[in-house]
Amino acid sequence: MASFNLFLLPGDGIGTEIMVEVEKVVAWFEKRGVATFERERGLVGGSAYDAHGKAISESDMALAMASDAVIFGAVGGPKWADVPYDVRPEAGLLRLRKDLGLFANLRPAICYPALADASALKRELVEGLDILIVRELTGGVYFGEPKEIVTLENGEKRAVDTQVYTTHEIDRIARVAFDLARTRGGKVHSAEKHNVMKSGVLWKQVVSEVGKGYADVTLEHILADNCAMQLVRRPKQFDVIVCDNLFGDILSDVASMLTGSLGMLPSASLGSPDPATGRAKSMYEPVHGSAPDIAGKGLANPIAMIGSFAMALRYTLGLGEAADLLDGAVADVLASGLRTADIANPGQNAISTTEMGDAVVKALDARVA
Ligand code: NAD
Repeated sequence: MASFNLFLLPGDGIGTEIMVEVEKVVAWFEKRGVATFERERGLVGGSAYDAHGKAISESDMALAMASDAVIFGAVGGPKWADVPYDVRPEAGLLRLRKDLGLFANLRPAICYPALADASALKRELVEGLDILIVRELTGGVYFGEPKEIVTLENGEKRAVDTQVYTTHEIDRIARVAFDLARTRGGKVHSAEKHNVMKSGVLWKQVVSEVGKGYADVTLEHILADNCAMQLVRRPKQFDVIVCDNLFGDILSDVASMLTGSLGMLPSASLGSPDPATGRAKSMYEPVHGSAPDIAGKGLANPIAMIGSFAMALRYTLGLGEAADLLDGAVADVLASGLRTADIANPGQNAISTTEMGDAVVKALDARVA
């Protein structure tokens, strides 16, 4: 039986509550003989700061580097609002992304039929929606130099951010998008602004070049502003969207709201495959934060966290059937009408975090019975 090392980093706030629920799911797959999952646990964010004065310790970083996949909850909260900038909770997340070389951020936007009415758009526009946004995560305007605010001779200030991409950076994210499109609907939209940005010109050229190697995948170029508009106009036209760091940040947030609650949205971040093992470093986390307003009350929806583990099964561990089973179990639970408070219908009795985790495990049982 295959054996994998998972490094669990619950973090802060509801991160610790939803991690308990994903652990039930991991244990279920192990019990069913799908694989052995060695689990190590560490601290990140505010909880790590309280223990070590750092947002993640060196020993936990080493465990993350050695793992097959990091399963990350969420970090942050008002308790750590005034800690020094370089040890603030988010610094732990950024360090993990940087040291693991996670350049590809995958955010699916899937609209479960049972939740279509929770979308900001009409049911017919979103029912059955299944989009995957592939965002470049380590380059572009968030990291380009110079990045500064300078005071000019006349006393006025001038702020500069630099949008910069190399062929290599675009090539590798494009390949991730094309490879994934092959396993799904066979279509890639590449979003950029080649009409006004040099980085957009290069982006379009390189993606076109990569696309020539994928005759079975349809490539369409789309201006990023039009892409934003089309996402709310006719979202089901999209399969995979690939874009840079800045556009990806915005487009993935737009896409997420097509599906209902923040508590439903998983994500994956992938690095380059190791030449020796062929396996890429990876981290899986819900899109939402530590939700201090509901932490400790049993109100958190664990589905984004559980869906993140399903992505780990699919994209890192090579267990696509297990991932389908888990996604199916979540759909069954929603179709049965069970809801946590964030996705409950008005007047409906919501279930707790623990009850939702248990319901997913029960649905897994039912699917294999
Ligand atoms: P948030 O995502 O934590 O919460 C926004 C709203 O959504 C809140 O009302 C919250 O109750 C609700 N919500 C979020 N996840 C939910 C879930 N699983 N189930 C039910 N409801 C859910 O964003 P915020 O309030 O802006 O930030 C809170 C803290 O989280 C801040 O410290 C912020 O820096 C941090 N944060 C961390 C991450 C991360 O760890 N990746 C991401 C975003 C924000």
